[in-house]
Amino acid sequence: MKGLMQDSPLIVTNILDYAAKWHGEQVIVSRMVEGPIARVTYKEIHERARLCALALQRLGVKEGDRVGTMAWNTSRHMEAWYGIMGLGAVCHTLNPRLFLADLEYIVNHAEDNVLIFDMDLVELIAKLAPKLHTVKTYIVLTERGCMHKAESAGLAGALCYEDLVEAERPRLHGFQWVRVDETAACGLCYTSGTTGRPKGVLYSHRANYLHAFTVSMPDASCMTSATTVLAVVPAFHANCWGLLFACPLVGAKLVMPGPYLDGASLYQLLEEERCTLSAAVPTVFLGLLQYLRDTKQRLTHLKVITIGGAACPGLLMQAFQDEYGVEMRHMWGMTELCPIGTIAGLKGTLPPLSKEEQLALQLKQGRATPFVDMRIIDDEGKELPHDGKAYGELQVRGPHVIQRYYRHEEDAVDADKWFNTGDVATLDPYGHMQITDRSKDVIKSGGEWISSIEVENIAVSHPKVIEAAVIGIPDRKWTERPLLVVVPKPGQQVSSDELLGFFQGKIAKWWIPDDVVFVDELPHTATGKLSKLTLRKQFQSYVAK
Ligand code: ADP
Repeated sequence: MKGLMQDSPLIVTNILDYAAKWHGEQVIVSRMVEGPIARVTYKEIHERARLCALALQRLGVKEGDRVGTMAWNTSRHMEAWYGIMGLGAVCHTLNPRLFLADLEYIVNHAEDNVLIFDMDLVELIAKLAPKLHTVKTYIVLTERGCMHKAESAGLAGALCYEDLVEAERPRLHGFQWVRVDETAACGLCYTSGTTGRPKGVLYSHRANYLHAFTVSMPDASCMTSATTVLAVVPAFHANCWGLLFACPLVGAKLVMPGPYLDGASLYQLLEEERCTLSAAVPTVFLGLLQYLRDTKQRLTHLKVITIGGAACPGLLMQAFQDEYGVEMRHMWGMTELCPIGTIAGLKGTLPPLSKEEQLALQLKQGRATPFVDMRIIDDEGKELPHDGKAYGELQVRGPHVIQRYYRHEEDAVDADKWFNTGDVATLDPYGHMQITDRSKDVIKSGGEWISSIEVENIAVSHPKVIEAAVIGIPDRKWTERPLLVVVPKPGQQVSSDELLGFFQGKIAKWWIPDDVVFVDELPHTATGKLSKLTLRKQFQSYVAK
């Protein structure tokens, strides 16, 4: 028997409609690419998103078309998101930090027909443009006064976003979002392709809508209309972790840093805008911590940080919690999940914990969110127990988990809809998941696995180390042995023996790396993660001393 409730689809523009109607006065603050800080309300952003939709419609964008955006977190970018999605078109976010060849592949593969981009990226777009086969229209996300930059970069035919949008005002009255089914696509994001070609994850309205609820829940980001969110994680990094949907959903004040992600710029926004919550990858908060320590500043409003994308170092969590009184919530996710899959909020049913035990639990990647089911399996596909010890491939399924990559012939999941995450993890009796490695980064020594993440976490807790990576190097006897690659703190002298001695008593003897290599910097991917692939290539013929 069918329920007798209304069948109204879960589409993301409903979220903005809601925010404009019931939180219309709430503000969105952005540090614009051009420099100044801009303030708009949900009411205004709703209006401008519809103007953007009208402008795109005039340019021929139809339901299902892909519109690429390469832009930082600002209100203009946000209104373009909703404008594109409100036409039933697909907002394809592009990461400017990717290699040119990857961007070329991605735009051509997605068959984007419009590209919208920030004015500081015009040179990059100008280099790319001759190689793009499907893009007919280039739009610079700026005002008329800054358009000369596009022209001098060789993008003479590019259009000015502000001109396009403002020209639509007379048509605004009576504009309706294009009605689409909740399963229709609204977003597209390619994984950075550390192995093989980048793969497109095509988000539906429904998936993003449900995910927005997950993000705002009390055990997750605990967002209300009284929260002020500094959304540092870029819109092009896995959907801004859902924040551009979750903030309007609860009527939260949203603050966006544009391209300025350094400690000083973030600190200024955190304090002046009285931000209570922020979200980003560990590198960003390491930068902020350094800034706070160097300048001896305090954080007066920030209460919670959600951190993920890579394992949160223990020292970073401890520093924010103990020195600055900011709770750190560790999250795990993937582009393929919209992206949040777990959040490390502590359960009410936990036994009393010592401070150390609590920190150890917070440093795990966390518990499954309501729409994500998860399990770990062994090499034969058998489910492993939740004992906090057995580790195996992490699999997930649920309404905001991928079914199939864009333009692939086959599903990315098995018959029971389990998606292989490529991560190796444990699950403890309380359901807290801990990533021990990415399966392709696992070091197998003498047939046994070594968790490179655990070894790295110990290395970075050494006071003279800034960053560390552990990779497997070929070994005749053990097949592979761990090699520690370290960036020492500027001006600090540290020896291999001192570092290797530091591991004694902290991990099993055979997990201790065979050797240490000191470098000035480590290679990172476009989303700021350690590129172990590059390191493995670099050290493939390294012989430990
Ligand atoms: P990519 O970096 O390949 O583009 P994503 O940005 O989607 O892809 O990253 C997903 C991966 O990042 C996860 O599979 C996991 O390996 C890693 N990751 C995400 N969050 C965490 C975390 N909190 N701790 C450890 N690893 C994490």
